[in-house]
Amino acid sequence: MYAEVIIDIKNKQVNRSFDYIIPSYLEGIIAVGSRVYVPFGKQKRMGYVLKIKDTTEVVRELKEISDLIDYKPILNEEFIEMAKYIAIHDFSFYSTSLDAMIPQALRMKYEKIVKWVTDSLDDSLKKHFKLKKEVSLSRIPKDLEPILFKEIKLGNLVIDTRIKRVRKDKYITYIHNNLLNQRPSSKKGIDLLNYLEEANQDLELSYVVNECGYSKSVIDTLEKNGFISLYKLEAEVEEDEKNYKDKDVSLNDMQKKIYASLKLNENKVYLLHGVTGSGKTELYMRWIKDAISLGKKALMLVPEISLTPQITAQFYARFKESIAVLHSRLTISEKYDEWKRILNGDVKIVVGARSAIFAPIKDLGIVIVDECHEASYKQSNNPKYNAIDLAIRRAKTYNCPLVLGSATPNAEDYYKALEGEYTLLSLPLRANLKPLPKVSIVDLREELKNGNRTPISNELKNALIQCYQNKEQSILFLNRRGYSSFVQCRSCGEVIKCPHCDVSLTYHGKTNILKCHYCGYQMINVSKCMKCGSDKIRYVGSGTEKLEEAVKKILPEARVLRLDTDCITKMSDYEECYHKFKNHEADILVGTQMVTKGLDFENVTLVGVANADIALHYPTFDANQVAFNLLEQVAGRAGRAKRDGRVIIQTYDPKNYVIQAAKNHDYEGFYKKEILFRKAALMPPFSESIEIEVIGKNITKVKAEAFHIANALREVSKSSVILGPTEAFIFKKKDLYHYTIQVQAAEDAVLDKISYIYPLYQNDKDITLSITRR
Ligand code: ADP
Ligand code: ZN
Ligand code: ZN
Repeated sequence: MYAEVIIDIKNKQVNRSFDYIIPSYLEGIIAVGSRVYVPFGKQKRMGYVLKIKDTTEVVRELKEISDLIDYKPILNEEFIEMAKYIAIHDFSFYSTSLDAMIPQALRMKYEKIVKWVTDSLDDSLKKHFKLKKEVSLSRIPKDLEPILFKEIKLGNLVIDTRIKRVRKDKYITYIHNNLLNQRPSSKKGIDLLNYLEEANQDLELSYVVNECGYSKSVIDTLEKNGFISLYKLEAEVEEDEKNYKDKDVSLNDMQKKIYASLKLNENKVYLLHGVTGSGKTELYMRWIKDAISLGKKALMLVPEISLTPQITAQFYARFKESIAVLHSRLTISEKYDEWKRILNGDVKIVVGARSAIFAPIKDLGIVIVDECHEASYKQSNNPKYNAIDLAIRRAKTYNCPLVLGSATPNAEDYYKALEGEYTLLSLPLRANLKPLPKVSIVDLREELKNGNRTPISNELKNALIQCYQNKEQSILFLNRRGYSSFVQCRSCGEVIKCPHCDVSLTYHGKTNILKCHYCGYQMINVSKCMKCGSDKIRYVGSGTEKLEEAVKKILPEARVLRLDTDCITKMSDYEECYHKFKNHEADILVGTQMVTKGLDFENVTLVGVANADIALHYPTFDANQVAFNLLEQVAGRAGRAKRDGRVIIQTYDPKNYVIQAAKNHDYEGFYKKEILFRKAALMPPFSESIEIEVIGKNITKVKAEAFHIANALREVSKSSVILGPTEAFIFKKKDLYHYTIQVQAAEDAVLDKISYIYPLYQNDKDITLSITRR
C-alpha cells in the first residue's frame, strides 16, 4: 500500500504530495488525515496523509513511512478536501491550510503530540501497553524527546493525559518529572516539592502560601523550571450565564413565516436580512433545535466580539451541555479539550468565531453565520480563507441549509439574494415592534462656523445632558483612538511622523506619548517642533481620549467609561467594562468599533457618532459599505427596550448617500446606490477582485518586482483589468515599502499565473507577496 503525503515544509517545490510506502505493520492503521513522519532528503519530516492507494505511478524507488503520529486520523476527508480548496483558492500552501485545521495544542509541539498519541489509542491497542510510569509532559527537555517517544512506542510509558479546564493561579499541581532525575536548586523548593509529593493531591495556592508559608517567588521558580504547574478550575458556565433564564417567546407572524420557509433537508443558502432586534437569534435557535431533533448537529459562527456572555448565556440556557463555545479566551488546552469533545461526537452545537469553521463536527443539519457582513470572517494571515466560503462548502457537503444573517448584508450577498442565488428572508421590524431609533444629522461645518471647536456639537451636548438627567445611559462612538489624530507645528507646518511608517503619530494625552498605530512605535511627546524649534504645537483632530475629556467637561459628575484597544487589552477587561455598563455603574460609554457590536443594554437611549466621515475615507472598494454597516450597527444600540432611543450623527458631509441612508435606516436605498458604483467600477459582485501587495525593505527592488509581476499578469491576460502597481495607501509600514496591484475580473489564465508566481517569492529574503481575494 502507498500513501500520498503532503510534507510540512512551506516551499514551492514541495507544495504537492509525495508517495511513500506504508510499512506492513501500519497497514490498516494509517488513514487519510493521519500525520506521519517520513524521510525527506536527509531529514525526517512531518507529513499529512492525503490518500491511500494500492498502486503508484512513481517509477523510482520509494521510501517507507517511518512513523505514525496519529493513531486516529486527526483530519477526515472533508477537511482534506477543504484544505485543498483553500490552498488553491486562497493561494497558500497545502501544509499551511492543513495546519489551520488542527488545534494549536497538536501543531507539531512534540509533547502535545505524544499526548494525542496515547490519548487516541484504542482500548484494544492500549492492552499492549504496559503501565509503568506516569509522566506529565508539560516540559520535556529537547534531548529527551527521542528517548521518550521510543519509550512510548515500546509501551513502557503511559502519559498523563489529564487536561483540565484550567486557568492559571488557583491550584498547584505537581508534575511527575522524576524521569528527569532533577531536583530544584533551592532548599525551599525541594521542601515544597516533597510536601506536594506527600500530599499527593493538588493544593490551593492560597493554602500553600498562607498556611504553609511558601513564598510566591519559590512557587514561581518551581513553575518556571517545570516542576509544578499552576491552574485554576474554570466554572463551566459563568455566573451570568447560569442566571440567564431561557425566554419562552412565541414567534410573531413575520418570524413564523420565515421560520417555516427554511427547509432543513435541503442545501440552500438563505440570507436573513433582519434589523437589529428583529428576532434573528430566536430563529437560529429554533432551527438548530429542529435540526437536532432530526438527529443532526449545528454549527454557528459569530464574530469574536459577539461572543459575550450575552449570546452564550442564551444558548446555554436553551441547549445546556450539548454545546461547545469556542472563543479566544479559552486556553490552548481548553481549546484542545473542546476539539476532542466535538471530534468524539459529544457536542451537538458548536458556536464560535471564524476558526470554528474547522470544528470537527459531523452530520451537520444546519450552518449559521450571524452578522455575515463582518470583515472578521476573512482571515488576514495565511491561509487567507473566508469562513463564509467554507461555510457554504460545509453546508453543501452535508446537504443542509446555510443561513447568513445580518441587519446590513454586504452588497455582494444582497445582490446574490436578489438574483436568486440565495434565498432572501426579510425581517423589517423589531420583534418588540419598537421603531428603530430616530437619527438626526449634525453638520460639523456649521459648528465650526459658530465657533464650537470641541468634538461635541451643541445638539449632542444637550442630548447627553438630558439623557444623564433622565438617569439613562448613552454611548459615544468614534472610530479613532488616542487624543488627537496628529500633531503639527503651527509655524512651519511640520507633522510628526513615525520614523518607520508613512503615517503621522497619534498623541495620547494620558501618557503624554506619541504613538504609531501601525507599528507600535512610541516617543515622548515633544514640546518644540523638531524641525524649526517653534513651541507652537497644535493637536489636530480628535480621538476617543479627547472625546472622553470633552464629555467630562460637559458632565463632570457623570461616570464615563472608555472602551478601545488602548484601555482594553484582554477579553476580561472587555467583560469587566461590559458588566459595569450593563449594571449601570457608568452613565456614558465612549469608544471605538468595540461599542458598535453585540451590546444590548436596556437603558441606553442615546447614541452619538462623533465623526461619521472617518470610515468613509478608507481606500477600499467597500469603504462605503463598511461605513454604513458601522452607522447602522451603532444606531442599533439605542432604544432596544421600553424607552425610545435617538441617534445623533456628526459629519462634515451631511449630503453623502451613506449618511442619508443611515439617517433613514434605509438599507435598500443604500444598496441601490452602492450596487451602481460597484457595477461601474467592476467591483464585487460584478467581478472577483484580487489584490497583490509587493512588500520589501528596498524600495527600488520592491518597485521593480511589482512591475515585473504586473507585466507578467498582463502578458497572459485577455480581459482581466490589471491596475498598478501603485504605491499602497500606506506606502511605508514598519520600514517596509508596499506596492499594490489590483486584478479585477480575473480570468483563469491570470489566476493560474498568480498561483505560479506566489510561491516563487515564498522563500525570498527581500520580497514578500501578500495576496488577498475580495
Ligand atoms: P436579533 O438577533 O435580530 O438582533 P434577537 O433574536 O436577539 O434579535 O431578539 C431581540 C430581542 O427580542 C430579544 O430580547 C428576544 O428575546 C426578543 N424576541 C425575539 N423574538 C421575539 C418574539 N417573537 N416575541 C417577543 N420577543 C421576542
Ligand atoms: Zn516647525
Ligand atoms: Zn510606525
